[in-house]
Amino acid sequence: MPRIFCIANQKGGVGKTTTTVNLAAGLTKAGQRTLVVDLDPQGNATGSSGIDKRELALTVYDVLLETATIAEARQRSDKVGYDVLGANRELAGAEVDLVGLERRDKRLKAALAAVADDYDFVLIDCPPSLSLLTLNGLCSAHGVVVPMQCEYFALEGLSDLVNTIKQVHANLNPDLQLIGLLRVMFDPRITLQQQVSEQLKTHFGDKVFNTVIPRNVRLAEAPSYKLPGVVFDPSSKGAQAFMDFAREMIARVEAPVAA
Ligand code: ADP
Ligand code: MG
Repeated sequence: MPRIFCIANQKGGVGKTTTTVNLAAGLTKAGQRTLVVDLDPQGNATGSSGIDKRELALTVYDVLLETATIAEARQRSDKVGYDVLGANRELAGAEVDLVGLERRDKRLKAALAAVADDYDFVLIDCPPSLSLLTLNGLCSAHGVVVPMQCEYFALEGLSDLVNTIKQVHANLNPDLQLIGLLRVMFDPRITLQQQVSEQLKTHFGDKVFNTVIPRNVRLAEAPSYKLPGVVFDPSSKGAQAFMDFAREMIARVEAPVAA
């Protein structure tokens, strides 16, 4: 059975996609069979994994509408070594198309069950909203990884997300847990970032991952080469941090579950 994680934060531009593709590349380098599910109509996780989103014959949209299985719609990206269930702009219509359908929030979960034997990890890149797409992700997952920048407003948005996770846990998916908060784009020279980082540790304790992802230009450049930073420039500080994060995730998954 794979461990299934949503990479979620209702804010845009906080590093969800960067975390998804670099963690996937790191897990792959560590020998884990990994699937990335792109649940964002922007298709950035698809593009950053070396797949041309305009040339996809089948996407996660077809899977949600149950006109294709994941086995049919997934692509192996040889450049990165993991599989991708891609997305493109068509997915923007899914919200409307799904609303009148039965099991509309559990369709991804059902589809993933059919490929459970193929993977050790499934990473779901969520859109920047608490929409029906994100709900499909949360209903499928064991855990949520929340990338966040250590800024003042980051804490404010966090309580909405934590409440949503609690509600989904209580009503729809008892398996769901907040796995952890990942500090990204971190610049230790900025005092406010250090302060927010300390506040996070005070409030969330060991839910804050030990690994910190620094602000690193190679991570920002990598998407224009259609690659995760971990593949584009493995020796860069950003790539090294994501390799550390992949090892931390593997260790957490292997550790006995805390109460
Ligand atoms: P989201 O998926 O949450 O919208 P992205 O992962 O696309 O966020 O990141 C937003 C922007 O920040 C992108 O241009 C990305 O390349 C850049 N970025 C993300 N993480 C880093 C980092 N650690 N250092 C520098 N730039 C980063
Ligand atoms: Mg994104």
